[in-house]
Amino acid sequence: MTKKRVKIAVAALAVALLASLCACSVVVDGTDVTDYTGVQYTTYEFFNTNTTVSCYLPAKDADRLRSLWDGEIREKLSEISSLLSQDGENSDVRAFNAAEEGATLRIDAVTYEVLTLAKQAYSDTDGAFNPALALSVDLWGFSTRFNKSDYSPSKPYDRENFRSELPDESYVNAFLSLADFSGTEIYAEGDGYYIKKSSDVAEVDGVVYTQQLDLSGIGKGYAADAIAEILRENGFAFGYVDIGSSSMSLMKNARKEAGAELGEWTVSVLSPTESGKYYFKSYVKDSSLSTSGSYQQFYEIGGRRYSHIIDPFTGEPYQSDVLTASVFGESAALCDAYSTAFCVLGSEKAVALAGKLEGYTYTVAVSTDQGFDVLSNAKGKRV
Ligand code: ADP
Ligand code: MG
Repeated sequence: MTKKRVKIAVAALAVALLASLCACSVVVDGTDVTDYTGVQYTTYEFFNTNTTVSCYLPAKDADRLRSLWDGEIREKLSEISSLLSQDGENSDVRAFNAAEEGATLRIDAVTYEVLTLAKQAYSDTDGAFNPALALSVDLWGFSTRFNKSDYSPSKPYDRENFRSELPDESYVNAFLSLADFSGTEIYAEGDGYYIKKSSDVAEVDGVVYTQQLDLSGIGKGYAADAIAEILRENGFAFGYVDIGSSSMSLMKNARKEAGAELGEWTVSVLSPTESGKYYFKSYVKDSSLSTSGSYQQFYEIGGRRYSHIIDPFTGEPYQSDVLTASVFGESAALCDAYSTAFCVLGSEKAVALAGKLEGYTYTVAVSTDQGFDVLSNAKGKRV
């Protein structure tokens, strides 16, 4: 061995020793993330809210992530939100809502997947999650058209001031009678996907109404799952997708956070009573969560709160003791649907239902005279 070779060998040994002694090397689930750069994120405007897609990654992959953000991920978000929107040009929901009772419509594979999950959630929650409540949502003033500054009454049941005037009882009952989602069939045949609208009709003041879909209670969760899947398929296993702070799909965390285990994200859940404050800290890795509640979109008339979640058993905004519910588990779409259902069901039935949902945990803020109590079996703690 020449002198030079010995020198290189010694240098290599020194580097190896140094690396093994270095306390700053971080390995998460078998991946060395020591040189992963600080978290990189981008935001989008879809579903009338903000979506954040955030990743830790080695610097060499930054361009690849950027092209995914601007390409496949943006396209997917755009595709899902337009297919499920109430009024988009190529929206399957809009086409369904405009169709006659009993009509069969061909739908996109994405819509089929969302509807299949919605059917599952409808059945799992004994109908508390119900995607066929669009007319009731609209009647109570919670469709997207009411968020626009130029709202003016255009439907027979519209009120000039929908936040201070209650709808007519005849509409509440008629729209409730159209919300039987079990009468709506979803199926695959050949290479196509189809939906057959329920044959129910209801007439009020000479106008005939048919069933209408609203997939806002599951669409954001579905989109969070879809984007996380794109990231994973492309080798990005560290990061998260957050849609409107209500549905999140989390992968691994490349940084150790105080109180959390290596790889876990700390996710704080907003307080239902104190604006900008959190009431629960949860720890999540390679999983999802969704939050619903009556504290973000609501109005009050005569001391009663009317929120955007409709009780499918009364046709009115829900009135249970659940101020907010978060559900944690593998599918963000199902977490999204379950968290809405938990609000409708109230704490007792929600906890009973949770016992049957394998792999899903919850945190629920239950209204009390003093404020609220917390019921939870999720990994985390009250703060
Ligand atoms: P957000 O969309 O604010 O995250 P949710 O996930 O709880 O809140 O979904 C509530 C939305 O779903 C409502 O704005 C409405 O469009 C629709 N919706 C209302 N009540 C129900 C229900 N019981 N089941 C399914 N969807 C519902
Ligand atoms: Mg929901």
